[in-house]
Amino acid sequence: MTGTGNIVARQPFPVAARTRLADPQLRANLRRATHTIRDKRLRMVGEVPDWEALRVSGAAIKDDVLARLPELLDRFEAAATAAGATVHWARDAREANEVVTRLVRQTGTDEVVKVKSMATQEIGLNEALEAVGIAAVETDLAELIVQLADDQPSHILVPAIHYNRHQIRDIFAERMPGVDPTALTDEPAALAEAARRHLRAKFLSAKVAISGANFAIADTGTLVVVESEGNGRMCLTLPETLISVVGIEKLLPTFGDLEVFLQLLPRSSTGERMNPYTSMWTGVTEGDGPRQVHIVLVDNGRTDTRADPVGRQALRCIRCSACLNVCPVYERVGGHAYGSVYPGPIGAILSPQMTGPDAGANRTLPYASTLCGACFDACPVRIDIPEVLVHLRQQGVDAKRGRPSAERTAMRAMSWVMRDRRRYTAALRAARRGSAPLRRGGRQTSIRHLPWPLSGWTASRDAPLPAPETFREWWAGRGRG
Ligand code: SF4
Repeated sequence: MTGTGNIVARQPFPVAARTRLADPQLRANLRRATHTIRDKRLRMVGEVPDWEALRVSGAAIKDDVLARLPELLDRFEAAATAAGATVHWARDAREANEVVTRLVRQTGTDEVVKVKSMATQEIGLNEALEAVGIAAVETDLAELIVQLADDQPSHILVPAIHYNRHQIRDIFAERMPGVDPTALTDEPAALAEAARRHLRAKFLSAKVAISGANFAIADTGTLVVVESEGNGRMCLTLPETLISVVGIEKLLPTFGDLEVFLQLLPRSSTGERMNPYTSMWTGVTEGDGPRQVHIVLVDNGRTDTRADPVGRQALRCIRCSACLNVCPVYERVGGHAYGSVYPGPIGAILSPQMTGPDAGANRTLPYASTLCGACFDACPVRIDIPEVLVHLRQQGVDAKRGRPSAERTAMRAMSWVMRDRRRYTAALRAARRGSAPLRRGGRQTSIRHLPWPLSGWTASRDAPLPAPETFREWWAGRGRG
């Protein structure tokens, strides 16, 4: 079953990117933030002598999980159930939202607190809850900023990366309940204090919390959440009911496998040796934490992705966002241009595979890359993103084989001209004559706009003017001299 929810781009990437490129403030914010995080990451990774061996281990463990996924999921369900949790299964976003909505309604509450979770963003859970009158309060600081601004996250790890602190101050002053707009400054400490006061009341009154999970241990039925602010720990321990929405690829076979991933993840994501809060829970524990623990295991296109021998490596992803921070395309356009909750290089390979390439404008995403390879070098689980991008582009071309297109028409014409030397020489001569007026004065070296069908080329790059003479002509002239 193909994936649904907030993973379908509504606009082709080039169209969405053009709008973002016209925003210099956005580019400045992105550049500052991504360079800060990636420099920290490089320093932390450089401290680990066996970093490459860790990457290889991480990739091998995840490949093993993907090879044995059905067996490990059964094992996880059995262990979590034995520990007192209730496991639910959802084939797509709609089913997952239905399960969570029903569970929240059974508690009788109309407000839930949330730990930052990509899976719940993917299925559009906040919107589904709102539709039945249940308010979902984001408790991660950056998610809270985005929610108050009525905006969408633009980065996996730093969802409000497109805002600077002056903009955040204005959002809080205008929209955060209980804030005195005349007294609030844009000092980071003042902004954090305002958020802390607002959230503390929510934590203490919430009956239900909703989380995702970074890892799910098949052997023990344990869920693991890795975070930096302590809001996760509050959500996971205080409310009576905890509902965790977990993608089926989050499994690790054994508790011991965490040793590898708890070294890889914090260094790759926030550039820290160790993240401040690592919370683990296994079902229900008498006298400690939530009384009801529900786990919703979500497929939403992951089984289809797993079926592709090249593309399945995208499911190794641990959502560290290192690939976003080194990507020259992401740095210029930001996350919204990708139209999915998964932006950047990983989004360009994950979203089209989960939804099927023809959903929305997702078929344009594999082209949102220069194929420079920086994402592969940064990825802690060695996902060869350029390889998958080329593979998806190939699939797109194969799917269109036989259908007429401007590109194919131009290539056929070019091929006919280049197969015969006389035709080729005549074409060069004609091009040279045609471009002679442009070359006059010597100032113009390129053509900005070519007529159809070559206009697709000059839509995104200049075409060089034909040389004033061919190599053969130059060679012949040299002999005469
Ligand atoms: S693809 Fe690799 S680098 Fe990118 S978010 Fe996933 S794990 Fe991190």
